[in-house]
Amino acid sequence: MTEYDYDLFVIGAGSGGVRASRVAASHGARVAVAEEHRVGGTCVIRGCVPKKMLVYGSHFAEELRDASHYGWTIDAMHFDWASLRDTVLRDVDRLEITYTNTLDAHEVAHFHERATIAGPHAVRLASGREISAKVILIATGAVPVMPEVEGIEYAITSNEVFHLPTFPGRVLIQGAGYIAMEFAGIFNALGAHVTVVNRSDQILRGYDESLRDRLLQITMTRGIDYRFHCPIRRIEKREGEARVVHFDGHDPIEADIVLVATGRRPNVNGLGLENAGIALGFRGEIPVDGHNRTSCESIYAVGDVTDRIQLTPVAIREGHAFADTVFGGTPRVIDYGCVPNAVFSQPPLAGVGLTEAQARVNHGNIRVYSSDFRPMKNIFAERHERGLYKMVVCAESGKVLGLHMLGHEAPEILQAAAIAVKAGLTKDDFDATMALHPSMAEELVLMR
Ligand code: NDP
Repeated sequence: MTEYDYDLFVIGAGSGGVRASRVAASHGARVAVAEEHRVGGTCVIRGCVPKKMLVYGSHFAEELRDASHYGWTIDAMHFDWASLRDTVLRDVDRLEITYTNTLDAHEVAHFHERATIAGPHAVRLASGREISAKVILIATGAVPVMPEVEGIEYAITSNEVFHLPTFPGRVLIQGAGYIAMEFAGIFNALGAHVTVVNRSDQILRGYDESLRDRLLQITMTRGIDYRFHCPIRRIEKREGEARVVHFDGHDPIEADIVLVATGRRPNVNGLGLENAGIALGFRGEIPVDGHNRTSCESIYAVGDVTDRIQLTPVAIREGHAFADTVFGGTPRVIDYGCVPNAVFSQPPLAGVGLTEAQARVNHGNIRVYSSDFRPMKNIFAERHERGLYKMVVCAESGKVLGLHMLGHEAPEILQAAAIAVKAGLTKDDFDATMALHPSMAEELVLMR
């Protein structure tokens, strides 16, 4: 008999926690997981997955408008928010059941309550019960950052946006990062008037500058308003759902919802880390080594709570590597190089590797190739939006250092191209590949 109740206790049943639980259990560990909200975590319940469904739903606005160019007559077009919302939420329910079934199938015990660290080998459940475990994994993810301004309680975050009772005609979004640009695209396409306000003078900091500029131009043409250098001073609630947002140095704006998207911070509040002697890093994250181990020998952490790269596939890989290392006898470390990423804005943007600016700093001598093209779909629909692809190449070796794409289906195309970039292929290798015509992706092998 072992001295512990479980071999592994996981706090948080999100992407990283569920993967770690399942894989550790398949290696023979006795595993339990605690989740205070819903099994599936941010990505499945209130993030990537329902967001992507809203993106799909909103694309019909353009498709239906374009239909007339292809001979279709659509007499009555009507969008019903409640119907889209409920379909999305039903699918989230389905996914939660799938995730729960995965835990059950691997005989992972699950507790639907909050758990905190009580000691290096102990967790305390909200019900008061204390459970011992040889190893504890923290996979509690991240939570939205709420700026400290008067009336912030009248704003919502991406947690609440999927549940709106009615469709908001006027949407004000604070921030111009991933979440802001994705929801700006969704609400704009569905017919709302959207204003994006940001503290700096840019959108999507960190993405390639030319692509960001192009996205800004396109979205402005599509009707999204931007205000830069525009910090919110106060949010005032008016009658009904209306809010008036006051700024420093700008006129106030009235909106039906104020969506705050100013980043996400590691979810560590009240977690009891002090009971295991774990100190936070300077960004509020749980510091870990290459094997996801914290400063406490028996406690590990994966995913957004460690604030390495806040992306679901990264958390999943980290959870899997943790379980293989600690319970499978096959130590594995994650390679964080060339992680592809995308913003599901409209049009979407995707990238892998170094941006032009980063490559100039890191490599000095580089060559930049691009393709600025009007997709066939836009020509046919008499839409003047142009796609933009950019390839950053090491001048000496010819190796592709970065690939950045803006345009329809960019994330789908980039995932495949990222394999070539990750494999260290050169511009000549791309050029030696025959174009697939007619496609947008063929621009990848035709860049000059
Ligand atoms: P981001 O970090 O992407 O963007 C934050 C935005 O808020 C920036 O425009 C930033 O301005 C601004 N900002 C930051 N702090 C403050 C503050 N205190 N007051 C006012 N404005 C502020 O965060 P998001 O919330 O959009 O997304 C969080 C994370 O979730 C992302 O980093 C990403 O990892 C993940 N995510 C990934 C998605 C995907 O892969 N498609 C989709 C959605 C989320 P500036 O930088 O200009 O100064």
